[in-house]
Amino acid sequence: MDADLRRRRLLRSSAALLAAVGLVGQVPEVALAQSAEPTATPSLIPATPPVLGPSASGPERGPRGVLGGEGELPAWVKPRETWAAAGPVQAYVPHTPTHVSVHHTGAPWNGRPSTEQALRNIQAFHIGPEREWEDIAYHFLVDLEGGIWAGRPPTVRGNPSVYYNSMGYVLICLLGDYNVQEPSEAQIAAVTNTAAWLIRRFNLPTDAITGHRDHAPTSCPGTNLYRLVQEQSLSRGVQALLK
Ligand SMILES: [Zn+2]
Repeated sequence: MDADLRRRRLLRSSAALLAAVGLVGQVPEVALAQSAEPTATPSLIPATPPVLGPSASGPERGPRGVLGGEGELPAWVKPRETWAAAGPVQAYVPHTPTHVSVHHTGAPWNGRPSTEQALRNIQAFHIGPEREWEDIAYHFLVDLEGGIWAGRPPTVRGNPSVYYNSMGYVLICLLGDYNVQEPSEAQIAAVTNTAAWLIRRFNLPTDAITGHRDHAPTSCPGTNLYRLVQEQSLSRGVQALLK
C-alpha cells in the first residue's frame, strides 16, 4: 500500500476511534500538534523507586480462560472482567516475549468516558472492520491514575496501530496523548512495575524497553513518554526494582 493511501486509511480509522471514545478531532498515534491543556503535572521518575504494586506479595490471579491462555498476571493488574472486555474474535498468534514496547493512544483524555468505557471503545475499534484484529491491540493499558488494566495476554502477539513486526514485543499503552500530556509519577511507576514484572517473568534484559517510534514512522508513544525510554529512565527504574 502506498504511503498516501496508508495515511488516508489511518486518518479515517483514527477518526472512527476518536468518535468512539468521544474525542472527535484528535488523531491517535500520529504526530499532530494539539492545543489541549496537559491533564497531568510534569514529573520525573520518583526519587525512590516504586514498589512492585500494592499486592506484589499477595496471591496471583489464575488463568482467565481466554483464547491463547492469559496465564498468570500480577494481582495489581485489573483483569479483563473489570472492564467487561469482549472475548477475542480470532485466535491469537502466540509469541515468546523478548521486549517491552511503550505506546500511547494518542488522543488527549481526561478520564471521561470512564476507563472501562474507553477500553471497551478501543477494543470495539480494534476488533471492528477498521482493524479486524483479534482483540484490543495492547497487552497492558495504563489509566491516568496509574491503574494497570489487562489487555491481551503477554504470551501472544500484539497489534501496533502503525505497523511493525511486533513478534516478541509486549505492548504497554498509556491512555492519552503524551505529545501534550506529561506522564504522572503514578503512570511512570505503573509502566516501570509492569515492565519489571515482564522482564523478571520472561527473563529479559533490563534494557529491553523500546518505544513505538523506535520501530515505525509514528510519534507514538509521544515525546514526553518517549523521553523516559530514550534517557533509559524506565530501564533504570526497572533495574532498581529488580535489585
Ligand atoms: Zn504505538
